Amino acid sequence: GIVTRESLPLDTEPEIISLRPGTLAEYIGQPEIAETLAIAIAAAKKRKEPLDHVLFHGPPGLGKTTLAHIIANEMGGNLTVTSGPALEKGGDLIGILTHIEEGDVLFIDEIHRMPKAVEEFLYPAMEDFAVDFVFDKGVHARSHRYRLNQFCLVGATTRAGLLSAPLRDRFGILKSLDFYKQADLIQITKRSAALLDIGIDNPGAKELSRRSRGTPRIVNRLLKRVRDYAQVRGNGTITKQTVEAALALEGVDKLGITDLDRRYLKTIIHFYNGGPAGIEAISATLQEETDTLVDVVEPYLLKIGLITRTSSGRKASESAYKHLSINMTDANSQ
Ligand code: ADP
Repeated sequence: GIVTRESLPLDTEPEIISLRPGTLAEYIGQPEIAETLAIAIAAAKKRKEPLDHVLFHGPPGLGKTTLAHIIANEMGGNLTVTSGPALEKGGDLIGILTHIEEGDVLFIDEIHRMPKAVEEFLYPAMEDFAVDFVFDKGVHARSHRYRLNQFCLVGATTRAGLLSAPLRDRFGILKSLDFYKQADLIQITKRSAALLDIGIDNPGAKELSRRSRGTPRIVNRLLKRVRDYAQVRGNGTITKQTVEAALALEGVDKLGITDLDRRYLKTIIHFYNGGPAGIEAISATLQEETDTLVDVVEPYLLKIGLITRTSSGRKASESAYKHLSINMTDANSQ
């Protein structure tokens, strides 16, 4: 779909200095995932076999692409990156697969958006490291099997539910990434600050991580804005006050709630009397893509309890009214 500038909140900064951890040892947080991968990688290397295909599921910015890079690094292979929507035809995928070298990692982001026809080429590739070409049609149809080098597929999706069962079943390792704990976010903040060569004190790191929606990508994005502020308006070191002042300018509040979140919540509250409201109705009223709301906005609001999801739609919770200082009885009697 078409993605507007506005519907890409906090998400698409190109990185000049890489803040991505390159090895499992450098990777902070998600301990169960890191341990599963460490064991699987060591075992595969011991047996001189490719790593089982890996599927990561979770909201954007939590480290799915980073983990694909780490897997390639740790396995000593090259990484090829593509995405579901970029693979329009079977030929697009075959072109990539036939260029993969032994032990490489193929990363397919947004794998739930891969067309069905392309997906079918992926099955034999995943299972037997082969692709089947079909020549001619009807009674003359012949198929030729082409051998591929052994590789590891890493898939990432924000919606595990949209993946077909045959595709999901071909992954050996399936892992869900959850929002990061505060302590991990503080560590990520400090690590990134060191890489960006900016000082930050403990209360500053704590405040920034509190406002980052449990998401490393948002830590890094906000850190850059706060660094600008500290260097221009402050003394060059990030404190709690710097974070508060810089993020007030960004419209990011104490809970990490952004303008888009507020517009979303106020739509439910004022337009749909607090809900339940269907997601299609909300996105039409807001004039935002449904995918953006479902993938980017809602997971964190659900996590911190500002909305609830029922079979009949989304509802603003009492804490949402409180957080926005909206009187519940006034709002709902209008
Ligand atoms: P996703 O693919 O899930 O959208 P990414 O892997 O692109 O997320 O991660 C977004 C950014 O967050 C990365 O550029 C990286 O700098 C940072 N990041 C992700 N995970 C971690 C982590 N565990 N420790 C430190 N930084 C991380």
